[in-house]
Amino acid sequence: MKRHLFVFSGPSGVGKGTVLNKALPLLGDITYSVSCTTRDPRPEDIEGKTYHFMTKGDFKRMADEGKFLEWAEVHGHYYGTRKDIVQAALEEGKDVLLEIDVQGALQVKKKMPEAVTIFLQPPSADELAKRLRGRGTESEEELATRIKNSVTELDFAEQYDHFVINDIVDNAVCEFIKIVKGYREEL
Ligand code: ADP
Ligand code: 5GP
Repeated sequence: MKRHLFVFSGPSGVGKGTVLNKALPLLGDITYSVSCTTRDPRPEDIEGKTYHFMTKGDFKRMADEGKFLEWAEVHGHYYGTRKDIVQAALEEGKDVLLEIDVQGALQVKKKMPEAVTIFLQPPSADELAKRLRGRGTESEEELATRIKNSVTELDFAEQYDHFVINDIVDNAVCEFIKIVKGYREEL
């Protein structure tokens, strides 16, 4: 069976984590690529599960050694996808999912045009700000950066293969699953 690389993006606080937490267990065999980041862990973060946390020095060294499939500076921190993990999973015949920002998604699409890009949109800018604030994980300064950056990120949505609106979360989960299954069922 053909394996796929799915790339999932959307502004901070739109609900990417929420949708994936519900969708991934229903999708069976799909490898979630754990990104490397220089941002500080949040209380709910688990090293090696949500992210690999590292210093800027270690991150830059890995970037210089060409270890990332893509990397970008997002909201003032570095984030990157490990090339070896993605390649190994695809070679084993597994589908892979990246949850990365718009800059990273465009880098991946350029290197691997067969990648399937999916953008998660908020129902409105006000609702996005409300969710981000309601999550309560960022300082006021971080919140302002993320809200400001969401405007630019939303401009990239039209470059994606698919978009899903996260209004009612279960509907967004169904839409996401439908897209992934659609590719899996292709001959
Ligand atoms: P992201 O991973 O995109 O940064 P999260 O999954 O952390 O976003 O969601 C941000 C906040 O919004 C969380 O508090 C989450 O519970 C809430 N949320 C997610 N989806 C919805 C939705 N459809 N309706 C209302 N609140 C939502
Ligand atoms: P957060 O700090 O809220 O977990 O993530 C902030 C942003 O970084 C989100 O847009 C998320 O998609 C993005 N991100 C997470 N991992 C990666 C990655 O490996 N590469 C890139 N380019 N962006 C990432």
